[in-house]
Amino acid sequence: MSFHFKIESTPSQEIVQFSGTVDENAKFNDINLKQNTQLIIDMKNVNLLNSLGLRNWILWVKTLKQYTGGIFLRNCPNVVVHQMNVLDGFLPLHATVESILIPFLCDSCGHEFDYLATRGKDYKEAFDGQSEAVLMPLEQTCTKCGKIAEADIIPAKHFQFLKRRR
Ligand SMILES: [Zn+2]
Repeated sequence: MSFHFKIESTPSQEIVQFSGTVDENAKFNDINLKQNTQLIIDMKNVNLLNSLGLRNWILWVKTLKQYTGGIFLRNCPNVVVHQMNVLDGFLPLHATVESILIPFLCDSCGHEFDYLATRGKDYKEAFDGQSEAVLMPLEQTCTKCGKIAEADIIPAKHFQFLKRRR
């Protein structure tokens, strides 16, 4: 799937939705965003990021400065969470990770589904001497067979980004 972006503007928010593969064709400089609002970056449909795409991404996030309402990353899939955890500079400075998609797997029936984990309810970042916290249940009722499904992640690794100091 090739790279696309879509911008939705409201008086108080700029919402940019990315989709597809973030690679050398991801031209972030073509994205024209209003400043002095709140920036929401929706990553839900990003399915892959390669090294050239990541390079473009990092150059782009460095240019994101004047968002008085803050910068929020929304619906981050595993491929994005992975980069947050391993790649310095991936997260824009002062950005908040608003929500991430956690894959769940049911051993009984093989069903896979995503759970949307949200900041504040399901996890908290380290802040002001307080350590980070993962509050979400790592077991959920399978949406297909009703048995127990488990989060298909290693929490200590997956939530590494919560340790980041801002
Ligand atoms: Zn099941």
